[in-house]
Amino acid sequence: MRVLVIGAGILGASTAYHLALKGVKVDVVDEEHQGKATLAGAGIVCPWATKADEPEWYEMYAAGARFYDELITGLVARGETSLGYRKVGALVVAEDPGEFEAAEQRVRERTKAAPEAGKVSRLTPAEARALFPPLRDGLPAIHISGAARVDARLLAAAMLRAAISLGATYRRDNVSLAMRDGGLLTLGSSGQQLHADEIVVTAGAWASRILQPLGLHHPVQPQKGQIVHLSLPGVATAQWPVLLPMGSHYLLAFDDSRVVIGATREDNSGFDYRVTAAGQHEVLSAGLSIAPGLANATHIETRIGFRPAAPTIRPILGRVPGLPGLTIGNGLGASGLTVGPFAGKCLADLVSGQPLDRSLNPYSPQGLTPTA
Ligand code: FAD
Repeated sequence: MRVLVIGAGILGASTAYHLALKGVKVDVVDEEHQGKATLAGAGIVCPWATKADEPEWYEMYAAGARFYDELITGLVARGETSLGYRKVGALVVAEDPGEFEAAEQRVRERTKAAPEAGKVSRLTPAEARALFPPLRDGLPAIHISGAARVDARLLAAAMLRAAISLGATYRRDNVSLAMRDGGLLTLGSSGQQLHADEIVVTAGAWASRILQPLGLHHPVQPQKGQIVHLSLPGVATAQWPVLLPMGSHYLLAFDDSRVVIGATREDNSGFDYRVTAAGQHEVLSAGLSIAPGLANATHIETRIGFRPAAPTIRPILGRVPGLPGLTIGNGLGASGLTVGPFAGKCLADLVSGQPLDRSLNPYSPQGLTPTA
């Protein structure tokens, strides 16, 4: 069997890797659009603190975090060591004591059946600051020891490299789909036909453009995120935990004295690949208000990514009804770096006809409606 994977973000890279592990022939094509979400994503892997509670979505979110240990072990065994993944723990903080209590209850409830979340404990403000020194004084924290952060640029590249070492191919190109004589036609940018028994579209925020010529309306839109990267030269930040306040902004750190503050969530943004004054202001204000110790950090860069936002929080994963050989994975929204590796494995199982770890029925691409 030959499978064509269109789009090599975290989801396409994982799909390709898991297909290649099964001995399937895989060709991966990616246009490398500016704003590819996987290159901009923060990389927090900590589903247990979220306020969102849609059950089917949460199932997938939690399964995504659980899958990481297996994924990392497998990649390391294949000689992939540059993965940017570390279990640094998370600090959940809240200004309002009522919100803090509710958050603690939520985290404790959710982690009961999740040993991978590690130990949950309450920290004094001084203990929290010892772990994340720029944190504002006076904030107690809930510490989740099993939370992690990942540099998705490194992880997706490692999965792709591993797939290639197993025989997959990769190239940069734009792929389009068309119907001809009742069948699917797959074309590269110079009009050449690409042959495959199965096609998996993992094209993120751009996927609707690929599906539209098939007469399908795919309701996934770009949601722009601006995310700020700071440097604290000479400061060892590698072990700093993820910092999760109650709003939609957050902080995390990486090995190279880098601290990241995320992120805007701009609906109806289109593919506007610009750093804006309001975006910078929003993110820096939120970050400095919770971690004023970063005021003198060096601004390195602001990354832009387009989250693939579906009409509901649930991802879209499955075969496209009425079009044999076409599968789609999309709509990972703001949780794709957590869900993506596991969702990619599920897609690989589905396409190769193997039993699934969990049913994908709740995520089947129902929203794909003919436009004509
Ligand atoms: P993408 O990474 O966007 O990849 C899609 C690929 O398809 C692109 O490379 C594109 O070039 C390619 N493509 C499109 N059309 C074509 C075509 N016609 N032919 C060939 N190739 C094509 N998630 C978390 O779990 N934790 C976080 O902390 C987190 N933080 C985030 C912060 C920000 C600022 C953003 C933007 C996102 C964040 N996310 C986070 C979400 C996560 O990054 C995304 O959900 C995830 O990266 C989506 O991956 P994807 O593979 O579906 O899409």
